[in-house]
Amino acid sequence: MDMTISRQKASGGASGYLTIDLGALRDNFLMLKAMAPNAVTSAVVKANAYGLGADIVAPVLYDAGCRHFFVAHIDEGIALRLRLAGDADIFVLNGLQPDNETSCAAMSLTPVINSLEQMAQWTAHAKILGKTLPAALQIDTGMSRLGMAPSEVETLKTSPELLDGIAVTFVMSHLACADEPEHIANGAQLTVMRKAAQMFPNAPVCFANSGGIFLGADYHNAVMRPGIALYGGAPSTLKPNPMKPVVRLDVAVVQTRTVPADTLVGYGGTLRTSGETRLATIAAGYADGLPRSLSSRGSAYFNGVRLPIAGRVSMDSISIDITALPDGTLTHGSLVQIIGPDQSLEDIAEDAGTIAYEILTGLGHRYRRTYLQPQQAAATNADK
Ligand SMILES: *Cc1c(COP(=O)(O)O)cnc(C)c1O
Repeated sequence: MDMTISRQKASGGASGYLTIDLGALRDNFLMLKAMAPNAVTSAVVKANAYGLGADIVAPVLYDAGCRHFFVAHIDEGIALRLRLAGDADIFVLNGLQPDNETSCAAMSLTPVINSLEQMAQWTAHAKILGKTLPAALQIDTGMSRLGMAPSEVETLKTSPELLDGIAVTFVMSHLACADEPEHIANGAQLTVMRKAAQMFPNAPVCFANSGGIFLGADYHNAVMRPGIALYGGAPSTLKPNPMKPVVRLDVAVVQTRTVPADTLVGYGGTLRTSGETRLATIAAGYADGLPRSLSSRGSAYFNGVRLPIAGRVSMDSISIDITALPDGTLTHGSLVQIIGPDQSLEDIAEDAGTIAYEILTGLGHRYRRTYLQPQQAAATNADK
């Protein structure tokens, strides 16, 4: 199936169909890599690869040449370690929690060390094991979320014994406003990063997330760390999205009806029809990751026609106004597009008052998931 050709009918009894184009994923990785040929491009696969399935996504990226993977939690790292070859480096962004060091070392995971306390925990463990352990050092350059303050990094410089038994894989930091290219915080963070990195002249610098990659070569450094752009999300809020879409979501109609003017629709009766209205009920709701904030704001699409959400989003269903379509066009089992060529991730996120990240990571578990293999996707494109 081509991502641009709409599925027309539900098949096999599922209510929602999530299609994940692994060829587009791979192409996005290669495109980012080509933007900075001298840098290493890693992949952020936290939160189950932004909801798309880390156990499937990560091996595809590995096959495309990726050898550095970032997860948030140690359990994500352990699961990923079992999926990837031994030469893949797996970094745990949230660092060491108390008592995590044994499993972290045993599973060959590299913690991102965010504080002197975590550093002490890791050096103590290195001593017990009698070997050198790898660590990424995170510096807080202005986001105030994770990482050591530059003054703490200074402490490491003046008291090198605090690093005994540790091999610094790289020095890293995270940009708070990278999706806003004009934001002055970007340059300010870069300046702090450069200064802090001078304290570790031999450690590669890992800095740019998706947005950071698009801020220009100054931000690329030795290792780049994209997430959302790999999955087709826009790296920048100002520019058109250059990434290939990876996700498509179609949801089945379970019932249609025609109601007269002055009919209340959905919970709370928040919508009252102004004239005769044709409605379709589709089989996905907030339990499937379509936020309740889409109530009477968002839309579905069918053959390019916009079908507004009518009234409140329910847990398992949503009513849409299909009056714009010729009678009989949509029937029981027809599929409407929620994410696809007519409505991007960013479009639906905007209607929901959120960001593409939250829509992606919230995509529900009840959808039937189809993964288009890279070669399949390439073949279908050639067929067009
Ligand atoms: C999530 C995350 C990323 C990836 O950011 P994107 O905006 O999705 O590219 C990179 N680095 C850190 C520290 C993160 O938490």
